[in-house]
Amino acid sequence: MSSSPLSLAVIGGGQLARMMQQAAIGLGVHIRLLAEGPDVSAAQVIPDHFVGDYTDIDDLRRAAEGSGVVTFDHEHVPPEHLRTLESEGHVPRPGPGALIHAQDKITMRTKLRELGVPSPRWSVMASVEDVVAFGLPCVLKTPRGGYDGKGVWLVRCEADAAEALAAEAVLAEELVDFRREISAQVARRPSGESVAYVVVESRQENGVCKEVIAPAPDLAEDLSAQAQQIAFDVAEALDVTGMLAVELFETSDGRLLVNEFAMRPHNTGHWTIDGAETSQFENHLRGVLDLPLGPSTPSARWSVMYNVLGGAVEELEAQVRTVLEAVPEAHIHLYGKAVKPGRKVGHLTVTGDDLEGVLAQARRAGSLLQDG
Ligand code: ADP
Repeated sequence: MSSSPLSLAVIGGGQLARMMQQAAIGLGVHIRLLAEGPDVSAAQVIPDHFVGDYTDIDDLRRAAEGSGVVTFDHEHVPPEHLRTLESEGHVPRPGPGALIHAQDKITMRTKLRELGVPSPRWSVMASVEDVVAFGLPCVLKTPRGGYDGKGVWLVRCEADAAEALAAEAVLAEELVDFRREISAQVARRPSGESVAYVVVESRQENGVCKEVIAPAPDLAEDLSAQAQQIAFDVAEALDVTGMLAVELFETSDGRLLVNEFAMRPHNTGHWTIDGAETSQFENHLRGVLDLPLGPSTPSARWSVMYNVLGGAVEELEAQVRTVLEAVPEAHIHLYGKAVKPGRKVGHLTVTGDDLEGVLAQARRAGSLLQDG
């Protein structure tokens, strides 16, 4: 049981909850965790955890009991349960009215259209004929449950379209000719106070984020300001509390289009633990607990975050000494997860003044940790 006046329920025991605990320790925030299993990433580091089902209202009640505020490691909690919690005096942050937009890509696209936020052309498909009429090539997506490129089909022909539709990928989007992918993050309090982090570049491999560079190199000032403004506008319009990440495409002809957003700490913000005055995890906690937000200023000229994916190394801990002997500048964050091919099992960040040098160090350390 918590004796701290600052306490919080966190639903979901992945690495985001684990890194929230790191920030909670400093702030004296007590976290009670609803975990999917006894050994999941965050359950290893949060003593007050229990194993439960985030789709079961009684388990959600048990997590919320004793703490005013409930927040999330993922966006999959049924909104009707969040409304029930609200009616019983608990405070989900972000609230169900905001979170539904992060749960379903059609709901999200509809809202972005309503807000006039620049987005790829899109439509909902019922048949292969619809897809052909929409225009090939295009991208088909499952509205719910996708992550790391799962649930995204590049569709070049009718057979591709049939395959995607059979997998319930009914959201068609124009295939954006992009120069790169960038991400804008803001933290927001219930009062509306908010801060923006610098806009970053995220580099993907096989649909999975591999590296993040903060700030995005050579991003024009007007595009950077526009990306931050979009994030502020979405946060305000949807009454987001805590962290919001907006992922965007910078098109080859110099425009921004929103790909998607997430209402929680995000992979493209992990660099902030080591490269910003206040990490996204701390500002998420501050935002949802309605505490003054911390400065988001970068603490180094450049930060490079490298995602460690399941590779040749099976026991990452056994590799830490080797990595640090080679690259002492690397800040390593392991998630305590079993190594499976391609799974995100940790990340590391290197900061410094010279981008090429920082990138090279991050890649050297990252590949040693991942592949040996
Ligand atoms: P997820 O929810 O799995 O992260 P996304 O919608 O972010 O799925 O898509 C994953 C990746 O697929 C993106 O990072 C981008 O590289 C590519 N992608 C998604 N939508 C489009 C699009 N409309 N045009 C071109 N590439 C796209």
